[in-house]
Amino acid sequence: MDLFYRSTRSKGEAVKASQAILKGLADDGGLYVPESVPSLDKSLEELSQMTYQETAYEVIKLFFTDFTESELKECINKAYDNKFDTEVIAPLVEADRTYYLELFHGATIAFKDMALSILPHLLITSAKKNNVKNEIVILTATSGDTGKAALAGFADVKGTRIIVFYPKNGVSPIQEKQMVTQKGDNTFVVGITGNFDDAQTGVKQLFGDKELADIMDKAGFQFSSANSINIGRLVPQVVYYVYAYAQLLKEGKVGKDEKINVVVPTGNFGNILAAYFAKNMGVPIAKLICASNENKVLYDFFETGIYDRNRDFVLTSSPSMDILISSNLERLIYLTAGADAEKNAAFMGALSTTGKYEITADMRAKMTDFYGNYASEQETADTIKALYEKTGYVIDTHTAVAAAVCDKYKKETGDNAKVVLASTASPFKFTRSVMNAIDAKYDAMGDFELVDELSKLAKVKVPRAIEEIRTAPVLHDTVCDKEDMKDVVMKFLGL
Ligand SMILES: *Cc1c(COP(=O)(O)O)cnc(C)c1O
Repeated sequence: MDLFYRSTRSKGEAVKASQAILKGLADDGGLYVPESVPSLDKSLEELSQMTYQETAYEVIKLFFTDFTESELKECINKAYDNKFDTEVIAPLVEADRTYYLELFHGATIAFKDMALSILPHLLITSAKKNNVKNEIVILTATSGDTGKAALAGFADVKGTRIIVFYPKNGVSPIQEKQMVTQKGDNTFVVGITGNFDDAQTGVKQLFGDKELADIMDKAGFQFSSANSINIGRLVPQVVYYVYAYAQLLKEGKVGKDEKINVVVPTGNFGNILAAYFAKNMGVPIAKLICASNENKVLYDFFETGIYDRNRDFVLTSSPSMDILISSNLERLIYLTAGADAEKNAAFMGALSTTGKYEITADMRAKMTDFYGNYASEQETADTIKALYEKTGYVIDTHTAVAAAVCDKYKKETGDNAKVVLASTASPFKFTRSVMNAIDAKYDAMGDFELVDELSKLAKVKVPRAIEEIRTAPVLHDTVCDKEDMKDVVMKFLGL
């Protein structure tokens, strides 16, 4: 029987998985949620004997029920291949009584690769299933990380093209180098003279441009988005929580049905929501520990039941978590409101007009699985240093926010359950902050010099993603004003 998806904002028609993936966002602005979260139909013992790819199939098939077995397996095998630098795809590393689930072994050494390496294949399969003949054009504005992960995912995927706009003077030198060296005839990277908001606004205008949509349709193109609210990104993220638990079981690190806690460094609330889905599928998870940096909207929310984005935006050393609107939280709001789209729409309406909303006591009572806390910049740096000195293991700034919050949780509650902590980026991606945390003397060194120092210190080989950009030629040098974004897109598509 097919599992259907509904929008979080209205009682519109339910759609199949492939339709939800193709659309990304529902017409009413809501997010697609499955009508129910399926239970695992294999035991954890059975799953513990499976590879990452096999586990992925067992999890994703339960959500994307309108895909055939061969369609899904093809998507999975194309995604989780030798783009990853380890066969196990998502290894668990034990350090200081915590299991670090390393989600950064893909093409861009950050966890976005886990979903963005499969999304392109899910999208083109969905297009075929729904008789969409047009070529899919992905349009993205990026402040750094997502753009590169999307480029790497879509590069050379037949039937797709990808255009990424980034603020010419608003990303780090390494991030820019990663993007402008991107290979693949179907990729196009453009710097714009403006900030991230300009890029984002420009992209939104292009998405809403009816005239452009017509011209594109006649020429056989249509836009789509690789945004993190796409259900095609959320579901593949459930896989690694199932896999992690199964691995612990296989290695005898947990007993049968022993409950663990999961800690997730959180921005948009996608990754931790995936852990919540894993729990609801039957993985023995007790607490979902939501870790924020100094942009601690979510901590305040779990403390008070009030979501309030009216505050200063803080630039931190964990930039992928510098977020004031956690868009995936909407799915939890909808579910805890009893899958009531009307109620949820009222909260989201308040969020867009006043920047805040308050949930009911009844809804809060349904969120007791979650625990929120945050780490300051100093606590984050101290955690990197302390863990390195104690164990030799080096973690990135985002992961360190989670590790710091995990310590706070344990001190506060005395809960000693085993912990899986989502390690979302390689320390090589945020080398300067990581090395400075360990010793201030490193600040005098150049970017690539630091990379070599980190490699010696952590006794870890420099990842391919970093080696490549040292010498890779620049392949994209287009820069435009924000007013000219439409012309640039038309030119790239030959219109
Ligand atoms: C995107 C990202 C996060 C936040 O994940 P969400 O799913 O948005 O909560 C954390 N760490 C890194 C390195 C990221 O790139």
